[in-house]
Amino acid sequence: MHLSEILNHLGEERENYFQAVAPPVIQSSNFAFETLDDFRQAFADEYASHCYTRGNNPTVEILCKKLAALEKSEAAIVFGSGCAAIAAAILSNVKAGDHIVCVDAPYSWTKRLLRQFLPRFGVTHTFVNGKSIDAIREAIRPETTLLFLESPTSLTFELQDLAACAELAREHGMLTCIDNSYCSPIFQNPIEFGIDIVVHSGTKYLNGHSDVVVGVLCASQEIVERIYHSHLLMLGGILSPHDANLVIRGLRTLELRMHRSHDSAMKIANFLQRHQQVERVMFPFLKSSHQYNLAKKQMRGCGGLFSIRLKIECIEQAELFFERLERFLLAVSWGGHESLVLPFAGFHKMPGGVSSPIPWKLVRFYIGLEDPDWLIADLQQAFDATISL
Ligand SMILES: *Cc1c(COP(=O)(O)O)cnc(C)c1O
Repeated sequence: MHLSEILNHLGEERENYFQAVAPPVIQSSNFAFETLDDFRQAFADEYASHCYTRGNNPTVEILCKKLAALEKSEAAIVFGSGCAAIAAAILSNVKAGDHIVCVDAPYSWTKRLLRQFLPRFGVTHTFVNGKSIDAIREAIRPETTLLFLESPTSLTFELQDLAACAELAREHGMLTCIDNSYCSPIFQNPIEFGIDIVVHSGTKYLNGHSDVVVGVLCASQEIVERIYHSHLLMLGGILSPHDANLVIRGLRTLELRMHRSHDSAMKIANFLQRHQQVERVMFPFLKSSHQYNLAKKQMRGCGGLFSIRLKIECIEQAELFFERLERFLLAVSWGGHESLVLPFAGFHKMPGGVSSPIPWKLVRFYIGLEDPDWLIADLQQAFDATISL
């Protein structure tokens, strides 16, 4: 289906709501039935009917149809956060005694789920260097049921070869799951490479306006229905109809926003790569990237997120750089309209004396929708200020 059809029309049955162009927010927890027979039919298949909003809601349903089509999957469900979607994808595929292979340095709460939560229920894991298919193969045990990927990772932007991972997992009878938040479905469709489950923090690009926290899970009809019954209905981490409507609105401009963010980030990454106070830029689409060929093979673009390593001697100089930046908001998250800087120096010299293991020279930028030259001017003046120190 054409991307324009998905973003503008798919799932929108306008004849049901006065031909309104923007879908209504069906802000109802409950749905009534005219006959006992209708009631029985609906509850026989809650996934496909409207009984109760924890199970299904017409506004949320429009969003799910669009998301499945965007990821080229048979079906999709949404959650109240990206973490809820990730947790459902992982928990639904393990039982006591099972083992998970996961790329090292996944999203921080994915790591905590594997490290702190699952061991209580007898599920073990191994973190591997995802750049090496041999390292992944060596980590697989007879009891491994799941391979969890995040490509690129969202701090140092390392890729896994998706086709090779999918094939390896299939040989071992394991399922594969990927966190595809970084690329969004505009720039990468892992299902085309044989990956089974795709999850997103829709908080980032899919909504794109920094005003909703949302999670997405896309897979085959069979897997989605299984997770729907075993986790979404039971653990109850649903998305509200109002938030679903905001995400539908965000999706209207997804393609535009992704391309704008990518082009600007490319320009700014090139500026930074040439800058004498920058040691390294980690952006998979730069020709200098170690994994440039793989990036070109499986991604259609990069979006606006990348990291740099500062070539600066002392943390005080770096602090001055961050204080001088005026056009980048100092914040976590990403994927909205606004450009952001996440300095890891901010996790050093913490109250209480705990320091992050991540080096303070590492800085993550997110490039939003502003004029890239306006952002470059800001970076330049902030670098200039550090020289005077
Ligand atoms: C933000 C993020 C998440 C978590 O999503 P929430 O919507 O904040 O729960 C997961 N993975 C990646 C790569 C993220 O950036």
